[in-house]
Amino acid sequence: MKSIMDSRLAQLKGPQKVAPASGPAEDREEYSQLILRPGSRSKKGDEVKKLVQGRQYVPLEEMNEGTQPGTFSVAVVVDRGGVQQTKNGKKYVCLKLTNLEKYERERVRKSFGAMSSESAKMQINKLYNNNMYRVVSIMCFGDSAGPVHKSSVPGTIVALIGPKFFASKPGAETQKHTTFLVDNVSQLVPIGYSFDYNICCGQDSNPRNPHAKTPCYNFVNSSVEKMCDRH
Ligand SMILES: [Zn+2]
Repeated sequence: MKSIMDSRLAQLKGPQKVAPASGPAEDREEYSQLILRPGSRSKKGDEVKKLVQGRQYVPLEEMNEGTQPGTFSVAVVVDRGGVQQTKNGKKYVCLKLTNLEKYERERVRKSFGAMSSESAKMQINKLYNNNMYRVVSIMCFGDSAGPVHKSSVPGTIVALIGPKFFASKPGAETQKHTTFLVDNVSQLVPIGYSFDYNICCGQDSNPRNPHAKTPCYNFVNSSVEKMCDRH
């Protein structure tokens, strides 16, 4: 059943992938409907089902401060930082996840209605990246940081099991995106590799050296666009 939230968000989306009229059936992940690259699946549908048994599925775009730790989601890893250490010597790694659905900036802006343009901009920056894909941040603390870093290759479709909403302390530097915590590698289970995940094919020229081009690092859903908004 689709929630009201879901149908409201659907109206804010940009062009989405059109299902092919014919051809071999796509291998779609059961909960998120993300398409897996042929032959990349490392967890079968029923294995995933077992892992998330008894938990409620929350689509990535509906994850917020009200998301209960007993839930799960399925999304694509789009960014992975290195393993770092806190001042107390605790290891951690940061990831970003998306559902690869692109939103229309103007429609999203209008949806904030009477909100001042500055607050609307802050909200948009919290929920979306600079290319209007919905993203959430994941932080993994402790001994699992290393293994999570290793298994969370960008482009991997993962089951995110039992994430805990992370409220940044008042006055502390606020997290750019909505953030969730995990502390065990078993909470981020690789399912396979996304078919639609790709990197923008645009390039930036170097003003000091016109012959040197730097490839863009923004991810895109290559079924709806080959280049990011900036290119
Ligand atoms: Zn680009």
